[in-house]
Amino acid sequence: MTTTFDQLGLSQPILQALDLQGYTTPTPIQEQAIPSVLEGRDLLGIAQTGTGKTAAFMLPGIDRLRESDNQIPFKSCRMLILAPTRELAGQIAQSAKDYGALAGMKVHSIVGGTSVNKDRNKLHRGTDVLVATPGRLLDLIDQKAFNLSGVEVLVLDEADQMLDLGFIHALRRINDLVPSDRQTLFFSATMPKQIKELVKGYCNNPVQVSVTPESSTAERIDQYLFMVQQNEKQSLLEMVLSGRHSVPGKIERVLIFTRTKHGADRVVKKLSQCGIAANAIHGNKSQPQRERALSEFKRAKTNVLVATDVAARGIDIPGVSHVINYELPNVPEQYVHRIGRTARAGKDGVAIAFCAEDERAYLKDINRTTDAEFDRLDLPENFRAVVEGVGPTKPAPKQQRQRVKPKPFGAKKKHGGGRPQGGGRPQGEGGGEERKPFRKSKPKHSARKGRPNRDGGHSGDRPQGDRPQGGRPGGNSGGGRPGGNRRRGPGGGGGNRSGGSQARG
Ligand code: AMP
Repeated sequence: MTTTFDQLGLSQPILQALDLQGYTTPTPIQEQAIPSVLEGRDLLGIAQTGTGKTAAFMLPGIDRLRESDNQIPFKSCRMLILAPTRELAGQIAQSAKDYGALAGMKVHSIVGGTSVNKDRNKLHRGTDVLVATPGRLLDLIDQKAFNLSGVEVLVLDEADQMLDLGFIHALRRINDLVPSDRQTLFFSATMPKQIKELVKGYCNNPVQVSVTPESSTAERIDQYLFMVQQNEKQSLLEMVLSGRHSVPGKIERVLIFTRTKHGADRVVKKLSQCGIAANAIHGNKSQPQRERALSEFKRAKTNVLVATDVAARGIDIPGVSHVINYELPNVPEQYVHRIGRTARAGKDGVAIAFCAEDERAYLKDINRTTDAEFDRLDLPENFRAVVEGVGPTKPAPKQQRQRVKPKPFGAKKKHGGGRPQGGGRPQGEGGGEERKPFRKSKPKHSARKGRPNRDGGHSGDRPQGDRPQGGRPGGNSGGGRPGGNRRRGPGGGGGNRSGGSQARG
């Protein structure tokens, strides 16, 4: 029998708020986490975004505050949620407002890149719920404008990402500043050793809930691979986005990942030069620029968003049909987060990796860490000639798509050559004919420079690591493994990628 929200023990105002949101059934992480959190237990949630984890901590967290019914503390908060990026913090604060409105919760968020003075003023009288990036929070604490003595419930969201951003010292400091009898809800998509150590410091005998196996890639995402030279990637991208080279899946909204901020700007500039409208989102962009880029993408005004890892981390954008890894991440777990931007809310998604010769080692790491299985795609015909500017510029004749039967979960793949172009997921009638061309923008001749980040030295709300590319010897494995790549997980039903759960005493 399906569990309903009112069976989980939530209060009436929260149930009403859920009703207004139109949520009827708890997702697996909500079902598993909410009763324990309501009991006051610490929680360790291993979950990616898209699983409904925000509500899994926010709903019972607000109810815990209602129950204790304490006064809002001066220059402090009752529930503190730490998030790695400005975007995620904004999203969580919005959820807190949505869910907490009827419970009368006062909600604020503070992130880098905005006025510290304004934050100081708005937190002077304290708040029920505060969503913060660690850098800005410590700024205010150091200025004696805020303290953590009132914290009853502490949430760390996307803890692994906070570590990747270099927040380890900030997190240790924050742990020393919160009252020892607070309740801690700790979420991370992956569980590297450093996170496990952090959990020990933060949590007291936590109930553990896991909705994705460690480092596994999402089940409903078909993963493809182009082996392509670095200097040919832009041409390939343009051909894919303009429909001159067909790829599996109907292209609707595309999130493209680069490793560096400059790389993201370069891709946007070149796309715009060939008439494809795109925005970039990364740490060098000002907060209004980032918000505009996200909002245009969400409203489908600009269907291509080029992002660096940190900027896109955790943001919830429904309707991303394709994630293109223009450059492979040098941290394999990052691959999981990137492709997790598609296949949300029960939909399928396509992830395409552009792998250059010197990225083979990264590909190998991704294979090893995530068990990802890639279907290799062929480069366009006459690709070299196109790259060198002497090839055909007209769309290639439409190719009949092959219907490929999904393989049962766990089926072994045969090794062999790449699949014919366009093979992959079944398309609509006629094989992808319904693809909408992207909105053309006026070609721009120069890309506007993003304003520098004003985080005051705290990198986290911090821009992206412009990690140097390469640095690792190219391995010799890792090419795409041909064959059907549909991965099906055991849990997979409904709108969530659920795996098992284990409760620890
Ligand atoms: P999250 O993993 O918290 O980022 O949530 C992913 C998306 O699922 C968000 O758009 C939520 O609004 C949505 N969501 C969360 N819980 C539910 C639910 N029980 N039913 C339907 N959608 C939900």
